Amino acid sequence: MTLLSVEHVAAHYGASQALFDVSLSVAEGEVLALLGRNGMGKTTTVKTICRMLPTTGGSVMFDGQDLARVPSYKVARLGIGLVPEGRRCFTNLTVRENLIAAARAGGWDFERVAALFPPLADRRDQVAASLSGGEQQMLAIARALMTNPRLMILDEATEGLAPLVRQEIWCAISTLKRETGMALLVVDKSLKELNEVADHAVILERGETVWSGAMHDIDEGVKGQFLGV
Ligand code: ATP
Repeated sequence: MTLLSVEHVAAHYGASQALFDVSLSVAEGEVLALLGRNGMGKTTTVKTICRMLPTTGGSVMFDGQDLARVPSYKVARLGIGLVPEGRRCFTNLTVRENLIAAARAGGWDFERVAALFPPLADRRDQVAASLSGGEQQMLAIARALMTNPRLMILDEATEGLAPLVRQEIWCAISTLKRETGMALLVVDKSLKELNEVADHAVILERGETVWSGAMHDIDEGVKGQFLGV
């Protein structure tokens, strides 16, 4: 069953149009990769889904509800967990406080996220500002899990991290897919790792969906034409 459906979405920053015609869908239990070169509209698409930026055309439906009618603070309550670009943890709160602040009833609690990311258990009483970049990223993912989402959106969750930490994050994403069947929308540039975990992919170019299909159908031609690799 389709959980998230984005159809022909347009969006503006003031007078400047950033999205022209974005369409994508994520089914329950599916992992969708959202791809595109820098500045093509991936983060803007994520912002429109989470209602941080209003749409100026098209529709965004989640679990049968039109998100245009939902204020941004209610999006998490509907079951969309966001791991935003740049992490945005509460730096003056401890790891545990960051997690408790996000908690909603469901299967994910402190013990379970700490089992997924053991460094967070060791650092539970440290303020987030004292964590490494990788640990802060783990905290951002853990915080989204604490909202017990049905769909989790990860925006550049492995960007700028050391190779070993990136590997840990990809490993956690695989575990989530395998063990929870949670739907995931993953914005990332690591095609090799996405190949292991993503079912489908959508490619954006200048605010438009220009390609969609099975992740394993992204061949050298598609990469050369749309991804510049
Ligand atoms: P990246 O991979 O670099 O994060 P992206 O695909 O996520 O890129 P967006 O950040 O969504 O791309 O940007 C899409 C377009 O919107 C770009 O032309 C960008 O310059 C513009 N844009 C993004 N944020 C703003 C903003 N706050 N105000 C005005 N224009 C913006």
